[in-house]
Amino acid sequence: MQPTASHFVNGAYVEDKNGPLIPVTFPGTGEEIARVHEATPAIVDAAIASAKAAQSAWAALMPVERGRVLRRAADLIRARNQELSELETLDTGKPIQETLVADATSAADALEYFGGLAATLTGDHIPLGGDWAYTMRIPLGVCVGIGAWNYPTQIAAWKAAPALACGNTMVFKPSEQTPLCALKLAEILIEAGAPPGVFNVIQGAGSVGKALVEDRRIAKVSLTGSAPTGKKVYAAAASQMKHVTMELGGKSPLIIFDDADVDSAVSAAINANFYSSGQICSNGTRVFVQSGIKDAFLDRLIARTSKAVIGDPRDPATNFGPMISEEQLSITCSYIEKGKAEGATLAYGGQRLGADGHFIEPAIFSDVTDDMSIAREEIFGPVLSLFDFETEEEVIKRANATDLGLSGAVFTADLTRAHRIVAAIEAGTCWINQYNLTPVEMPFGGSKASGIGRENSKAAIESYSEIKTIYVGMSPVDAAF
Ligand code: NAD
Repeated sequence: MQPTASHFVNGAYVEDKNGPLIPVTFPGTGEEIARVHEATPAIVDAAIASAKAAQSAWAALMPVERGRVLRRAADLIRARNQELSELETLDTGKPIQETLVADATSAADALEYFGGLAATLTGDHIPLGGDWAYTMRIPLGVCVGIGAWNYPTQIAAWKAAPALACGNTMVFKPSEQTPLCALKLAEILIEAGAPPGVFNVIQGAGSVGKALVEDRRIAKVSLTGSAPTGKKVYAAAASQMKHVTMELGGKSPLIIFDDADVDSAVSAAINANFYSSGQICSNGTRVFVQSGIKDAFLDRLIARTSKAVIGDPRDPATNFGPMISEEQLSITCSYIEKGKAEGATLAYGGQRLGADGHFIEPAIFSDVTDDMSIAREEIFGPVLSLFDFETEEEVIKRANATDLGLSGAVFTADLTRAHRIVAAIEAGTCWINQYNLTPVEMPFGGSKASGIGRENSKAAIESYSEIKTIYVGMSPVDAAF
């Protein structure tokens, strides 16, 4: 099942051993499971050239044909969900219990959805008296996708599916920490009938991403990554007036009122902090609980969290796996130390487990105040901070006191309050009495420093196409002289 070479360019695996070696390790044991090479300038150039050469013919296909390729790829992915999920688990360390339902399946949904949408993309007719105008929805050209390591299959597909549906081609660079899964998507798209060059994958760290972003043949860059990387990539793209989509980090509020269904809210807090070992951008890491139910909420949260099955992510019984890397684990540990030093109470967990793999217990902090580091900075690990609040007005102000604005949620039985709260939360995606569900049918993305543009849904079409306007003169032209 493992890819057979580092890069996938112009419809085939290619290798260039001159690129520095990137060892790929399984986060469950730290063992090396594969080796890939970083793309050399020759590979970067070949990938962009192949995407450029393929683009006009791909855009000129009947849209139903483009859509059919994507839908066939969706079917192939669903048929191979087991093996793709196993690879995702090896690449990321996420429990097989999660990857079987959240990764390849999500990629298949995106390919199916945008495959269906491809043939519906049309322009407008604009009557102007005798004259008239029309618009065409046209692709941007060659797009670059750059991924984070937490959802390597999903991120690749969420970018490729709308890009290809609109008639663009793509060069995708996965995170250097999870290089394997996107290669399988490239393979499957070819099997589904995509012409060579339509979707290329090359490996490397930030320097390869930078080379792609700065290349003049690239029309658009879609990045999923941290806010600091987003600022650099956005600036580089802006210098050549390129289109961008930026899916960046978050520090999102989960607000629980005392009339909420407490068990449901505890489930949401667990999903919003400990799924994928807390390595999810939209996580609700600031859990605001109204003071009347704070103690009961904390007790139930601890009781439920203590039942997490932590272990080998390949074991179907495991529901809490390792973190991606030693580095990400030590970042998480350093935030736990800061939390304690700044006066928060470590109410549960937070201990490193075992010598092999990158395991840590889920951590729950109570008595957190808004000025603490764990309350302000994205940790990207399984660290939940619990705050209490009294009034609606107060909690909205505190929830919005951050530069980030990816997501947010409210739990309450009061219908009008629920809608008031989500309207007031400064974030791109909000949930009422739910958390972190992101079906392809709905737009997903961030406000403020959490990003620009939206992935998924019809909104993503705007991010991968532009409108061209044509004025049609129907009468002789008058002039002043
Ligand atoms: P990162 O910012 O370190 O890296 C992201 C990607 O950018 C990697 O592929 C990296 O190689 C590349 N990169 C780094 N510097 C670059 C440069 N100068 N030019 C071009 N590319 C460059 O992020 P990460 O550690 O891989 O992922 C974690 C972050 O991603 C978190 O902040 C998380 O919130 C965010 N994230 C956001 C979403 C979302 O949809 N909003 C989803 C997943 C993860």
